[in-house]
Formats: sequence, structure tokens, C-alpha cells
Amino acid sequence: MADTTLMDKLVSLSKRRGFIFQSSEIYGGLGSVWDYGPLGVELKKNVKDRWWGAMVHARNDIEGLDAAILMHPKVWEASGHVAGFTDPLVDCRHCKNRFRADDPRIKGTPGQPDAQCPVCGSKGTLTEPRLFNLMFKTFMGPVEDQAAIVYLRPETAQGIYVNYLNVLNSSRQKVPFGIAQIGKAFRNEITPGNFIFRTREFEQMEMQFFVKPGTDEEWFDRWRGWRMEWCQGLGLNPAKLRFHRHGPDELAHYAKTAFDIQYQFPFGWQEIEGIHNRTDFDLGRHQQYSGKKLEYFDQAANERYIPYIVETSAGADRVTLTVMVDAYREEDVEGEVRVVLGFHPALAPIKAGVFPLVKKDGMPELATEIYHALKQRFPAFYDDSGAIGRRYRRMDEAGTPFCVTIDGETIANRSVTVRHRDSMKQDRVGLDRLEDYLQDQLKA
Ligand code: ATP
Repeated sequence: MADTTLMDKLVSLSKRRGFIFQSSEIYGGLGSVWDYGPLGVELKKNVKDRWWGAMVHARNDIEGLDAAILMHPKVWEASGHVAGFTDPLVDCRHCKNRFRADDPRIKGTPGQPDAQCPVCGSKGTLTEPRLFNLMFKTFMGPVEDQAAIVYLRPETAQGIYVNYLNVLNSSRQKVPFGIAQIGKAFRNEITPGNFIFRTREFEQMEMQFFVKPGTDEEWFDRWRGWRMEWCQGLGLNPAKLRFHRHGPDELAHYAKTAFDIQYQFPFGWQEIEGIHNRTDFDLGRHQQYSGKKLEYFDQAANERYIPYIVETSAGADRVTLTVMVDAYREEDVEGEVRVVLGFHPALAPIKAGVFPLVKKDGMPELATEIYHALKQRFPAFYDDSGAIGRRYRRMDEAGTPFCVTIDGETIANRSVTVRHRDSMKQDRVGLDRLEDYLQDQLKA
């Protein structure tokens, strides 16, 4: 399969099966904004739940937080986003397209007569690079003037920093400890694309771990290892995961050390998560801009310090895309192509399909009963339309790990067939054991 077609196939499967739709499609769509349909919302929720489970529920040194999207505008001055969250851009005066100044398709030097527009091909029409801030602005209150500007947050991290003392004082945690948050972020990206890889509205799963200065490097190394383990635990092909260490020219202004976890997408190795040693930059700046002391008092050592921060920052949408890309496969089955999303069962949006073999002899009634019983335990899907083979294929495309079929024998001896998505093997399972059998398989 050619790699570019894989992305096209995923986009079309996503629409066909209800994973992801283009935003405002009936109006022609809104650039690089996407909506999650019935299966997509379950898949992304499973990714987020797994992250929350590993970060907050499984550990006793991390607390959860849900800070608001809108924040005091000074937050973004302190964070450096107002001054620094910019990309140099060039415009074509002829076709009005806008590009990043470092767009490899541009020939020549923007602003000079030799520069050529990569879209319309005109020469000498590209402007000098100008800085463009990636933050979305809006107004708070009735007056739309400079003083009323607020920003849609471009990252969730700042909500954690400004609440660090609130969480510390209310939770009785001590340094080292962390705060985790999942929430929307917005960036007016200039070169968005690759489906939900880079969008203008997205969700981040960020954790900020506060440590004593001097212990930051050992905590950084631990977190780097734990985060890679988490990615592998999603069932992703380990050969397609790697670390990329930021060189001195790549490091963000706040970072002492940074590693990305990259995945090998059809369009190349790309970041899915960043792990950053942010030092005391963020709390130091907020202390300076707010005038409030943000030091930690270490009772045991009887000393005060501004904690260093180790950040782990992943995109929920980007990880969801990674899971989909990694899971997609086509197989030749008796001369026909079988499309499968081989999700880890814990991530699959639907855990079991329930089918009566035929629509008679009491099978639909019994199947409906089984379906309702299973639905109390996990998401299940009832389907009685079309040939059984086609119903299996539909569930393969949805990534459903198990299909339960009610047939003539079910009525006679109270057993069903359980068909496994990946091997297509079928087991005969007694009805009284079915729920436990599926639950065991889902845990495996
Ligand atoms: P990139 O260089 O790919 O834009 P970044 O280095 O700006 O990413 P961070 O600011 O470190 O990214 O954000 C952390 C994570 O948030 C990224 O690893 C990614 O998963 C996610 N993310 C960032 N920007 C976007 C976006 N525009 N669309 C979707 N996810 C994003």
C-alpha cells in the first residue's frame, strides 16, 4: 500500500464508519478542524482514560486538574507566548497564499525578485518574512478594544502552573509531585494538515511534575522511560516508536533538555509527545509577573526554592491518529480485501458485536437479550442486517475485537460462537460464561 493512500483511506473509513468528520462539512468545511463521530469519540475517550488512569489513578504523587480555557492575559505575557509564539511567514501578493518562511517549496529568498511562489509560480511576489502569532484572540465583555483581549489557550500547561500552590495546599502533596490535565488547546497553525495530526483546535494531555532543583535530571530520565512504556502499552508497533533528542537549535526557550517520542507515520517520523525539563522558568516567570511568591517550603530540609518542572505533553488527537494508523491493515481473504482496525481491545470503541444468524426462530429476541446484558458491562453493537460475513467485515473496520453470533445451536444448547477479529477463529462458548469470557479476553 502506497503510504499517501493510507492517509486517504483512513480519512474515508473515518467518515464511512463514524470516527471523524470534517467540521461544518455542509458549509464546505472549516480548515483543519474535525469532529469526532460515535466511534471516534469512544476511541479518543479510551486514549484519554488510559492516560488519566496511568497518570492520576495509578499513582499517589499526581493530582488531576481541569483549568479554564480562558485565562488572565498576563499569563501569556509571563509564559512568553505573546512575544515568542510566532512563526515567520511570507505572503504572495499575487495569489494571496501565505507560507511559512522556511517552506522548502519556496525557491529563492522571500522579499527578493528571485523568490518564486510555490502555488502560483509568480516571481518576485513574495513578501519579506513577517512574524505571526499563533494564538487565537477574542474579547471578554461588551467592548471590543485592546484592553478586552483574551486568548484561547495554546497549551494547557499554564493552567497548571498558576494553580500549583492551590493544588499543593489543598491536596497535602509534597515536592516531588505532579499535576495532570486533559483539555482543549488552540493554535492558529499556518501549515496544519495530515488529517488530525496538526489541527487548529486539539486536546492535550499534559502532566507537570514539580521537583527539587538538582533532582530534575533523574526525574526527567524516569519520565522519559515511563512515557515510552505508556506509548508501547497502547499496542503500537515498537519498531515505529523512537526518541528524538532536541539539539541546541531546536530547544524551546524554556527547556534545558527535551526529547520527543516520535512515531513513524506514512508522512515520516513525527512527534506524538514531548518530554521537557522546563527548569524553574515557568514558576519563576509567574512569580515575577504576578508579584506572588511561588516558592516551595521544604520542611524536612528547612529550605525554600522554586521547583523545577519536568513536563510530559501529548496530544490526545495525535495519539488517536497514531493508534488508527498503526491499527489499519488490509488482508486478502479468499480473494476479497478485508480491512481491519486491529486496535488494542482496551482502546476499541465497541468491544463486541452481537448478531442473530437469521431473523427468525427466536434468534433476534435472544440476541437482543444478550446484547442488552453485555451493554451493561461494555459498549456493544447489535446488527441483524445482511449476510453474516458482511456484518463481520463492518465490525472489522470498526476495530471490534469480538463478534457474538446467535444461531440454531444457541436455542438448542445455550451456547454462542465468539469470533475473534484478528485470527477470525471462532470459539463455542456457553451463554452462562459469555460475559466473563469476554471480560477476560478484554483484559488480556
Ligand atoms: P509540533 O512541532 O508538531 O507542532 P510542538 O512541538 O509545537 O508540536 P508541543 O507544543 O510540545 O508541540 O505540544 C505537545 C503535544 O501537543 C505535541 O506532541 C502534539 O501531540 C500536540 N500538538 C501540538 N500542536 C498540535 C496541533 N496543532 N494539532 C494537534 N496536536 C498538537
